[in-house]
Amino acid sequence: MYGGPGVKTNKDFPIPDTMKAWVLGNPGELKLTQKPVPVPKRAEVLVRIDAVAICATDLEIIDHGSPALIQGGKPFNKNFTPGHEYMGTVVALGPGVDEYKIGHRVTVEIHAGCGQCKRCREGMYTSCHNYGLNYGEVDKGHRANGFTTDGGFCEYQVNNINTLVAVPDAMSDEEATLVVTAGTAMYGLTELGGLVAGESVVVTGPGPIGLLGVAVAKALGAQPVILTGTRDNRLQIGRELGADHVINVRNENVVEAVKRLNGGKGVDYVVECSGAPNAVNEAVYMVNRGGKVCLAAFPHAETPVDVAHIVRNNIYLYGIRGEGKSATHRAEAFMSQKRFDATKIHTHTFALDDLPTAIRYAKDRVDDAIKVVVKARGVAAHRVAAE
Ligand SMILES: [Zn+2]
Ligand SMILES: [Zn+2]
Repeated sequence: MYGGPGVKTNKDFPIPDTMKAWVLGNPGELKLTQKPVPVPKRAEVLVRIDAVAICATDLEIIDHGSPALIQGGKPFNKNFTPGHEYMGTVVALGPGVDEYKIGHRVTVEIHAGCGQCKRCREGMYTSCHNYGLNYGEVDKGHRANGFTTDGGFCEYQVNNINTLVAVPDAMSDEEATLVVTAGTAMYGLTELGGLVAGESVVVTGPGPIGLLGVAVAKALGAQPVILTGTRDNRLQIGRELGADHVINVRNENVVEAVKRLNGGKGVDYVVECSGAPNAVNEAVYMVNRGGKVCLAAFPHAETPVDVAHIVRNNIYLYGIRGEGKSATHRAEAFMSQKRFDATKIHTHTFALDDLPTAIRYAKDRVDDAIKVVVKARGVAAHRVAAE
């Protein structure tokens, strides 16, 4: 019988004792196994996972380990379940939880900070000083599902109530998985100052965060919003999400093009989502004096940067990790008000059993895949393209 001390369940949402779960073996190796369904503790709920999107960071973790940190080390062969961009239905409440009811649809953000360190107290729970300290004698109560604790490539997961974002019934499961992606873009713009109405913004790199970065910047009133990238089909989606101008960096000098499109001047903000080796320098050359650059993508190698230009021009550089300061709630508000259509970046849906195929689509961008979603129920075990 599923349950635990003080845990509330509801017969309308029966919970099995075990579930399907993918676990990470050696680098690049995922195995489908059975695991016990986890039981929520204080301030936690059990979420039945209805849909989970694949993120570039999942691919990074599955192949290379970092930035996941399980029991103080790499996540391989530790019975670890990756996956972090999921949504679902609350099906059990931990002791004392009255903030959510069984049956509520929610999407989740990744990081439940420890709640007690300096950064958590500032709302910067994605920069928790106790990151990964959630095991054995060093347990600080930190969770980052899919990074330091089990994630969403399975049927059920426990989440701290601080990580839940309620979603309306009108929002599809697939769209709800995109809230955290939009939330990351929102966090970047929050860290840059937040009030970007009437200010000029360049987003570099039309991946999922970049495309939704365009959408969020436009919804916040930025003008113009310029998107740069290498693939015309992605740039076209950026236009549909609100970009006033797009630049294919293969065809022209991107810094000159940005200035031309902004009345000969540099822009106020750049949100760098490409991770390209020359992206940081191009970003600092694109902004005007006193401008701000948010770095939301990470390159694999160390990157030379024109520090003298940054200093002489009083340019601000911000690194962001994930989606802090409740940015997901602000992103969800835009999405539920239909200020932009995030589903334009959802391209494919697969059954949970087909996760390896889904990952191949995401990694190799098969069939122009952008966001690939996996569902445990209601999807036949073969590929279904989104309309
Ligand atoms: Zn992600
Ligand atoms: Zn903390």
